[in-house]
Amino acid sequence: MSPGSSTFADVAVLAPVGGLLVYELPEELREGSEIGRRVVVPLGRRRAIGFLARIHGERPPPGVTPKPVGALLDEGPFFPGALFRTLLWASQYYLYPPGEVLRAALPPGASAVPRAKKRKARARGPEAAGEPLVVPAPTRELTVEQREAARPILAAIDRGGFAPFLLHGVTGSGKTELYLAAIERALERGRGAAVLVPEIALTNQLVARFQERFPSALAVIHSGLGRADRGRAWERLRSGRARVAVGVRSAVFAPIPELGLLAVDEEHDPSFKQDDRFCYNARDLAVARAKEEGCAVVLGSATPSLESHANAESGRYARVTLPNRIDGRRLPPVELVGLRPPMAGVATGLLQERLREALSETLERGEQAILFLNRRGHAGSLCCQSCGFVEECRNCSVSLTVHRTGRRLSCHYCGFWKPVPEFCSLCRGPLSELGAGTERVEEEVGRLFPGVRVGRADSDVGSAAKISATLAAFARRELDVLVGTQLVAKGHDFPNVTLVGVVLADLGLHLPDFRAAERTFQILVQVAGRAGRGSAGGRVIVQTYHPDHPTLLQASNHDYAAFVASERSRRRALGWPPDGRLCAVRVDASQPAAAERAARLLGSAAERLLRSGRVRGALLGPALAPLERLRGKTRWQLLLRAAGPGELRKLALELQRAALDVHGARVVFDVDPLAML
Ligand code: ADP
Ligand code: ZN
Repeated sequence: MSPGSSTFADVAVLAPVGGLLVYELPEELREGSEIGRRVVVPLGRRRAIGFLARIHGERPPPGVTPKPVGALLDEGPFFPGALFRTLLWASQYYLYPPGEVLRAALPPGASAVPRAKKRKARARGPEAAGEPLVVPAPTRELTVEQREAARPILAAIDRGGFAPFLLHGVTGSGKTELYLAAIERALERGRGAAVLVPEIALTNQLVARFQERFPSALAVIHSGLGRADRGRAWERLRSGRARVAVGVRSAVFAPIPELGLLAVDEEHDPSFKQDDRFCYNARDLAVARAKEEGCAVVLGSATPSLESHANAESGRYARVTLPNRIDGRRLPPVELVGLRPPMAGVATGLLQERLREALSETLERGEQAILFLNRRGHAGSLCCQSCGFVEECRNCSVSLTVHRTGRRLSCHYCGFWKPVPEFCSLCRGPLSELGAGTERVEEEVGRLFPGVRVGRADSDVGSAAKISATLAAFARRELDVLVGTQLVAKGHDFPNVTLVGVVLADLGLHLPDFRAAERTFQILVQVAGRAGRGSAGGRVIVQTYHPDHPTLLQASNHDYAAFVASERSRRRALGWPPDGRLCAVRVDASQPAAAERAARLLGSAAERLLRSGRVRGALLGPALAPLERLRGKTRWQLLLRAAGPGELRKLALELQRAALDVHGARVVFDVDPLAML
């Protein structure tokens, strides 16, 4: 249909309205009306920015008189077409208002209605002249195994068209080199590329590798970027001056006009999921976008998520593997060391004899070690020795963490803190610290090995730049031992590290989350993967109270296949993903009664719906969330479960309608949720 005969437009308005709104397209605007064009529209008494999502001639029902579109902005569609379609798809899939989804992908300033009437529209689209030539740095020769794995990916890029891959490569197998080769191919074909990495992997080390290869074509997107830098990166990508984006979660929205490749490194990483407001998973959106773009998408990991594994099994993704490390280096042997439960009053060292000895040998040889403990602070909690009272946050149902620095008790969820008390605030009894954190590990290494240079990397250290500086110092061998949380586990390539010690492997094992075993397996394999990447080899020592736990045994054998087999059958028996689909409905309110009322209302609505037989599925809950109070809000949750995404969507949509009757509480729908606490 020619634009001339289309008199109406469905517009995604930047406002929290449930769907697209219908407007009239005035005669004089029809000529330039294109899908994706940014427009100014009246909304209530104000004007708002919107995007043309559909142009048509369908007369609205009688009595409805659509208001006219006010103005067309820019010179053409604001987003590249495939990205725009992906965003509209995401709005449907994640049950989130289209305008709000688009907002998440906008550069700073683009959501404000321009003031001047005749503002010069910014040029859009690839720049015709003055485009710097992309001259990649010389390519490193791929190994035979890498070439083998790269072949189908490069062929898919040459061919064009949607082609999803799961790249299962052990730690140190050279996955990054494979992404680089694939990007290069996409550029040769005149297309762009985007690589998503977890926040912490975006260190100087990785960025340098990309910068060296694509000096003029690269845009780096991280959460520390200011408004101006974000805007600049957006413009460079949109205009085609930069053709490669490397970045965190939000880089899936990089406005690259013609993508030839999307890659998601450490695809299993939970940081790709946003679990508030627009609850998208950037890994899954990357696949959705590749479908719209008609391009290749590579999900890479040493420990693929069960979801991606299932997609490879079913043939939906093509599987490519890198089963060996570069240069025939071996995966480090992992030794589980059983800890005895601590006896009351007996102070036990954090590092048992095995680990102490190994550390001592490593340091004597002038090599480096990483000590991993997934708990920040000095101790997890402060407990009264006579009455057992534990200091808790006043806003959240969690114990306060003891921090030696500043002698504070602080909440890791809301930031509340107070000075460490001297006695129990209930009975004035003596206090003792429970559950050591990274600060204490750092202290203990200093005590055991005087003169050894110890650094710590966790989010208490400060900004991402500070953490990055510590990691860089460690890489330059200005530190001997690096103590840290999961920040030290991911992606880094420190060839001189020959020992990785896991101070306590059990911390995440018993969380009320059906992915607890998967997370534990992944983090152990990842952290173990930091050892022995150089010619000197390496070893891993894992301290645990459960040396017989199957997940720990599988991780210690680097046995992904065994882990997946047992975990899949457990999930299947219980109907958890990937064998069913979930939508979490989270309810919170300052008033506990309001939260409960809302949760029960939604619960009954879901039950009625399921009883009616119109949709098939199951309801779990409503129940208080494991973290029942957070930042002063009481939290309830419901889990909707269905066999497939279609049924789940029907169920969730109807419940979303029921949620319109909720007052005094906030309701968040999270499709394919990861956060269970
Ligand atoms: P992964 O991401 O799979 O853990 P990396 O991409 O970091 O692995 O590669 C591990 C190490 O091997 C890095 O130091 C990298 O520079 C090196 N490497 C990768 N590919 C090659 C190659 N083809 N030839 C020589 N060294 C390589
Ligand atoms: Zn708190």
